[in-house]
Amino acid sequence: MDAISGALNGARFAEVSSLDYDAYGDTGVNWRVREGYGRLIARLGQAVSSITVTDCAVSRIDRSGPVLRLETNRGELTARIVILTVPNSLISGEAIRIDPPVPALIEATAGVPLGLASKVHMTVRGAGDFQPDTQLWTRTDTAETGGYHLRPFGRPMIEAYFGADLAWGLEAQGPAALFDFAVSELVAALGSDMRRRLEAVAVSGWGVDPWSRGAYSHALPGHAADRAKLRMAVEDRIFLAGEATAPVYYGTAHGAWMEGERAAEAALTAQTLKGLGLDPRRPGDDSEA
Ligand SMILES: Cc1cc2nc3c(=O)[nH]c(=O)nc-3n(C[C@H](O)[C@H](O)[C@H](O)COP(=O)(O)OP(=O)(O)OC[C@H]3O[C@@H](n4cnc5c(N)ncnc54)[C@H](O)[C@@H]3O)c2cc1C
Repeated sequence: MDAISGALNGARFAEVSSLDYDAYGDTGVNWRVREGYGRLIARLGQAVSSITVTDCAVSRIDRSGPVLRLETNRGELTARIVILTVPNSLISGEAIRIDPPVPALIEATAGVPLGLASKVHMTVRGAGDFQPDTQLWTRTDTAETGGYHLRPFGRPMIEAYFGADLAWGLEAQGPAALFDFAVSELVAALGSDMRRRLEAVAVSGWGVDPWSRGAYSHALPGHAADRAKLRMAVEDRIFLAGEATAPVYYGTAHGAWMEGERAAEAALTAQTLKGLGLDPRRPGDDSEA
C-alpha cells in the first residue's frame, strides 16, 4: 500500500492527510499523451509564447514599496501584480524569498510539501514477450519497490515508477542507481536474461532538480486546510497558483492550469477594483495570506 501511496502521493500514507487524499478528484481522462506531456503543455501555451521570457530565475520579491520589485538573474523587474507558480518546496525553503516575509504563507506551503516520484524509461529487447500496456508490481512485502509499466503504447519499452523514500534515496545516488534498481527488480521477477535485454533511455530527477525539489504536493496530516490558505492573495498583489493550490485536481497538470486561470482572474478583478478606487479585499479576508 505504501509503495502505491509513494506513486500516487509521492509519500507514504502516514505522511498524507486522509482528508486531502479524499478530496482528490479524478477527471477520468488523465491519460498518457503519446507525444509527451511537455509537448502538450508547450502547445497549450503557444498563444503566450511570444511574450514569455524563460531562463529568468527570480530570487526575491520585494513587497516593501508601492510596486513589487523582483530580483532576477537578468536584473530587476517591477510589477504591480505577481502570480507565483513555483513549486511549494521552493517557497517554504525560501529559494525564492518574499520580503518582508509572510509567515502564514510559508507555514501553509510547508503543510503541503512536495513528495517524490521518479521514472526510468528503458528499452527492452524481445518486447513481444509482454502484453502491451500492462502493469507489474514485483514485490508485496516491502514499500521499497517500484511499479513497472510494460510496453507503454505498445512500444518496446518498460517504464519504472518509484515513489517516496525509495525515490529520494535512489535520486540522491544518481541516475545509474535508479536504472540498476529497476534492473535488479525485473531480474528477480522475470529472470536473469532481463539484465542484457534492458537499456536506459531516460531517468527523471525531480527531487534533485533545484527548480522543483520534488514531484507533486500532498498535505501533511492535519494540514488539509492549507491548500485554501495558499489561494489567499498577499495584499491583493501576490497570487499563488500551481498544482499545490488546486483543491481537487492537485498534483496534476490540468489542476495547475486551472489554478493559473483562477489566479489571473482574481488578479484582474483586484486591479479593476483598485482602478475604481474600491478596496478589492472582501470583508474577513486576511491580506497577509
Ligand atoms: C513522475 C511524475 C508523473 C506525473 N504524472 C502526471 C499525470 O499523469 N498527469 C498529470 O496531470 N500530472 C502529472 N504529474 C504532475 C504534473 O507534472 C505537475 O502537477 C505539474 O507540472 C505542476 O505544474 P506547476 O505549474 O504547478 O509546477 P511546475 O510544472 O513545477 O512549474 C513551475 C515552474 O517554475 C519554474 N521555477 C522554479 N523556480 C523558479 C524561480 N526561482 N524563478 C523562475 N522560475 C522558477 C520551474 O522551472 C518550472 O518551470 C506528474 C509529475 C511527475 C513528477
